[in-house]
Amino acid sequence: MNDIIIIGAGVGGLTVALTLHRAGMPCRVYELAPEIKGLGLGINILPHATKELAALGLEDALASVAVQTREAVFFNRFGQLVYNEPLGRHAGYDWPQFSIHRGDLQAVLLEACRQRIGAERIFSGWRCVRADQDGRGVTVHFNDTAAGEALPPQRGSVVIGCDGIHSVIRKQLYPDEGDPLYSGVNMWRGATWWPSFLTGESFVRAGWLESGKMIIYPIRNQRDAQGRQLISWVGEFYTPKYKRRDWNRAGELKDFIHVFENWKFDWLDVPALIRGAETILEYPMVDQEPLPRWSYGRITLLGDAAHPMVPRGSNGAGQAILDAVALAECLAQQADPADALKRYEARRLDATASIVRMNRQNPPDAILREVYLRTGDRPFNNIDEVISRQELLALTQGYAKVAGYDKESLTSKVKL
Ligand SMILES: Cc1cc2nc3c(=O)[nH]c(=O)nc-3n(C[C@H](O)[C@H](O)[C@H](O)COP(=O)(O)OP(=O)(O)OC[C@H]3O[C@@H](n4cnc5c(N)ncnc54)[C@H](O)[C@@H]3O)c2cc1C
Repeated sequence: MNDIIIIGAGVGGLTVALTLHRAGMPCRVYELAPEIKGLGLGINILPHATKELAALGLEDALASVAVQTREAVFFNRFGQLVYNEPLGRHAGYDWPQFSIHRGDLQAVLLEACRQRIGAERIFSGWRCVRADQDGRGVTVHFNDTAAGEALPPQRGSVVIGCDGIHSVIRKQLYPDEGDPLYSGVNMWRGATWWPSFLTGESFVRAGWLESGKMIIYPIRNQRDAQGRQLISWVGEFYTPKYKRRDWNRAGELKDFIHVFENWKFDWLDVPALIRGAETILEYPMVDQEPLPRWSYGRITLLGDAAHPMVPRGSNGAGQAILDAVALAECLAQQADPADALKRYEARRLDATASIVRMNRQNPPDAILREVYLRTGDRPFNNIDEVISRQELLALTQGYAKVAGYDKESLTSKVKL
């Protein structure tokens, strides 16, 4: 069998390399960055995805770097507690929720790929420019990222575009689609070595997008010599202007610190945390309309290339991991590659389209929107008078069901 060609060594590309290897199918990975190193900051990996990473034998490697997230905690912008709930194993799942540096996750996946598929099958500095197909396979064209010159075309049985939100493979399939859609929310992110707050394993969402929202959580289980943890934070609010999304775009303190200047709580001094970051990155919150198809003959899409979603449900990387499992299973089960890619699309397209839409409307932070609206953005006396526990539960559980990490979906035999 000809090798399967994977474009992109992000979470999606590296995970599908591992699931294909597990299924006995040879593959090669091509990444445009001259050196594969983790970009971005903290992300959360929810139990539906940690289940799959554990099945790939990676739970211990992840647990050795990541924080096993204990609880989700919601506050208003005055630092008043709205709601908290246990997460991962603490909520009775058989798998943990991890809060992890995206670079650490990528490093664990890359190391596993090097050991299992071989370092010589992972190419960096190869920028994919186009994929062609015929009855017997695919031919993928590349330029050298640094020199810009054409590299030798690569033959394979199938090509999987795991090349992220600005995917060239998606662009080739949908040339008229246009740029990612801006949600109106801009994000500023950083990571700061800081003393532990709350349980030391808490995932905090606070405030609301109209007057400023923060997401704050620790991402490494190792502490520094002063006992501090690496804390990832995101400040986000409605902002008319934005710049193209790039994992590496630098942000500036002056553009957003004013919104959080008064956020000095007994559980955390937020402006001091922000000011303590070594670097600040800026991203617009963007997604795309769900596509009608991902698979065209021997070409398909996976992860953000297939279904970019606004990061309000901690789910984009998790869904890329689920895609990777489904795609390898379909390729292993179907003799005809084009049939396999169609079957993969049938398993994953509607499920991910629902999450893209749900992330726009009612992700878990909808709790904060409700409290913001009902209190008129003022402090409350008693949260039970604002929103009932049942409503709060319905909002978080409703999202878990659509995103496929409610306990029932995870323990049933239904394929994700
Ligand atoms: C602010 C923010 C917070 C997030 N938080 C979470 C979270 O908590 N939990 C979660 O699950 N998800 C989260 N996500 C989403 C998650 O990061 C993405 O869904 C995930 O990284 C997608 O992985 P991917 O492999 O599909 O794409 P990417 O990670 O973007 O990887 C694509 C790879 O392809 C390479 N590439 C691009 N073009 C080419 C080319 N032409 N040729 C060769 N290689 C190419 C890129 O260099 C890159 O390495 C968040 C996203 C953002 C922006």
